[in-house]
Formats: sequence, structure tokens, C-alpha cells
Amino acid sequence: MNIVVQKYGGSSLATPDKIRKVAARIAATAQAGRHVVCIVSATGKTTDELVSRSRDLCENPAPRELDLLMAGGEQISSALVAMALQQLGHDAVALSGPQAGYITCTNHTNARIVEMRPFRVLEALDHGRIVIVAGFQGRTPDGELTTLGRGGSDTAAVAMAAALGAESCEICTDVDGVYQVDPRLINDARRLQSLGAGEMLALAKMGAQVLHPASVQLAIEKDVRLWVRSTFGSEPGTLVAGDIDGRRFAGITQHLPVLHLTKDPLVMTNQTLKRELERLPMLHTTLNNGRCHLFLNTQNLSDEHAFARELSQQFPVETELALGLVAVVGENIGEQLQPFWAVNRQLGAAGFDVRHAFAQRESLTFYLPRPQVPGALQHLNQLLQQDPLVSDLSTDHLTPATPAACF
Ligand code: ASP
Ligand code: MG
Repeated sequence: MNIVVQKYGGSSLATPDKIRKVAARIAATAQAGRHVVCIVSATGKTTDELVSRSRDLCENPAPRELDLLMAGGEQISSALVAMALQQLGHDAVALSGPQAGYITCTNHTNARIVEMRPFRVLEALDHGRIVIVAGFQGRTPDGELTTLGRGGSDTAAVAMAAALGAESCEICTDVDGVYQVDPRLINDARRLQSLGAGEMLALAKMGAQVLHPASVQLAIEKDVRLWVRSTFGSEPGTLVAGDIDGRRFAGITQHLPVLHLTKDPLVMTNQTLKRELERLPMLHTTLNNGRCHLFLNTQNLSDEHAFARELSQQFPVETELALGLVAVVGENIGEQLQPFWAVNRQLGAAGFDVRHAFAQRESLTFYLPRPQVPGALQHLNQLLQQDPLVSDLSTDHLTPATPAACF
């Protein structure tokens, strides 16, 4: 079967008119002779609104009921998109995540997909139907509904594409591809025509919002080719795949919500603390002067200040929320010292106060005070367009931003 999986983000489905346009886009793909499975997100800010409604009633909502509540957002989207397709005369069927065969672990609100059983999807495709699946959710082997963590619809799309052996997985969104730097922050940002999956993973981990890191990780493991393209535009977008040759300089990114935690290495053995910290994606960790330093991504916390305060009250740890990061990403960029020292020196010479820096294979990361982060990003952007560090950069993989491009 010639199957394509498309994922539509919440902003592409925010109004009835947009849903109609998405339905027309899906219909066009089906009419071109392909079997289409769509994974949809909750519309607009629905998930945030649902979470905030639970907080109106309850200080600490139970994760099980929170899952049931949040999963509703994606189920509404899937039903509406299927209805819009039916209105256009197409045979479409909406399925919840559990109906579509996502089997997860039992970790409510942040469950991991452990198995795919997409029998009903395959059966519907066999009958010539277009299948619209509610993203971001699955069920445990016992039948409990779970969600996959914020931004989890990207991962749901990749998992479905892998399970069905789809030709490609298109992430249809409000940007027309992956940019070298966030075009909302930098006017003349350039779009990448293609990008190695390893570099995309580094960009996503270090703050680029366009794809969820877990979805890129899964695409690497399952060898899924990803297209990031605009829902309503006609540009081809950016191809992300494991077999694409990397670039010495692929892009720059920034991230503000970082928690820097310092502790005695022995405190590491405290199981309660370990569990608390496992809730947050780890950016970096290092041992320095006998102290353990952890840099954690707090983006999905509703109140990072309350979290940090409680940690330092309960455990012998110091917490700091004043840092953010800028990162330069490229294939093997961290394998040699020269780019690392060059960027570090340039940031220092321009007056930026780099507090901690890390070189990894695909990324160079610099932690500095949050207010300095936007300026450092601008500075790095200018620098990297001229510096010999990137003189081997060929520009044939870039296209200038179109005026319609936005993140
Ligand atoms: N609706 C969920 C969220 O807002 C999942 C997603 O959009 O991917 O995080
Ligand atoms: Mg998203």
C-alpha cells in the first residue's frame, strides 16, 4: 500500500474555515491515489484551556483524570476533520488513539508508546477510507487511557508512519519548514531544504519548537523520513532524514526555561529526588569541583519557580532559574575544539557572560543569563554567516525566507 501519514498541528485546525481547508488538502492527497492517515492535534490552545479548567477545581489534578480530560482535545479535532471530509463526499473515519492501536506504558500524562497495533487503521485503509486519528494518546495494556506528554502528537505521527511502513510522514504546520534560526526572532532567517536527523534532534533538544525531540528520536530509530511543511502553503518544506549528509553548521537555537541545579554527588542516590528530576528533560550534566551540575528543561512545568522552590526546600540542592542557553548545531561540530573555542571567544569578546559551555558531537551549547540570550542569538547569527568557522558551508541547501514564513 502506498501510505502517507500527515500530521496537522493545532494552529492549522483553529477555525471551521481552516478545518475545511485541511480537509480539502487531505482529499487532494487521497485523490492523487495515496492512502492517507492523518494524526491531528487539539485545536489552538485547547489543551492549555483544559488543563487550566482542571486547576480551577483542583490544586493537584489526578494524572489519570487529567489524561482523560486532555485526550478530549485531540478527539474533538479528529471527529471534526472526519466530518469535514464526509461533507466533501469522502469516506473518512475518525479514531481515538486507543482505537488506532497505540499501546503505552502506564505513566499517566507522559506515557511512552511501547507497541503499535494499528489493525483498525489498516482495515479502514483496506476499505478505501481516509483515517483521522486523535494524536497525543494511547492506552495501557489494561485499557487505561494515557497521553504522551505535551507536544506528543508529532511522536504519535512518527509511530504510526513506522508501524504502517508509510512512504513518508508529513508534519503540516504553520511554518514552511525548518529554519537555520527562528524566523520570529531573526528577520532574514533562511530555510533549510534538507537536514540530517541527528542535527534536527540536536536543534529540537536545544529549543527549536518546530518538532518535538522525542518524535525525531523515534524517526531516527525507525528510519522514518519526515517532511516539515506548511499546511496552507505550496512550498515543498524541509526533508529530515537519517541518510542526509549533515552540515558543519545547520542552525542556531535558543532556550530560556532552564533550571540549573547544583548538588553533592551523594544526593544523587536519593530516589525521591531522582523521580522528581526525571520529570524534566535533561539538557546537560557535569561534575565540577566536587559538585554535580544539572541543566534541565522546564518548558513543560506550569510554574518553574514553585518547582525550584519546593526542590530546594525538600532536598540539599541549590537551584537557579536565571540562565538560558544558545546553541550552535551542525554535524560533528563538537568533534573539534576550534569551533567551540571560536564561538566561546567571540561571545566573550562581545560582552556576553558565558557561565557554562558544553561541546557535544552535534551541538555547542552556551549557558548565559536569560536577559542576554536574545542578543547572543543575534550576535551568533551574524557571526556564523561570515566566520571562517562556517566558510565550508555551502548555501545550496538554503532558501531565503518568504514573507509568508512565520514560526
Ligand atoms: N495537544 C497536545 C499539546 O498541546 C499535544 C500536541 O499538540 O502535540 O501538547
Ligand atoms: Mg507541536
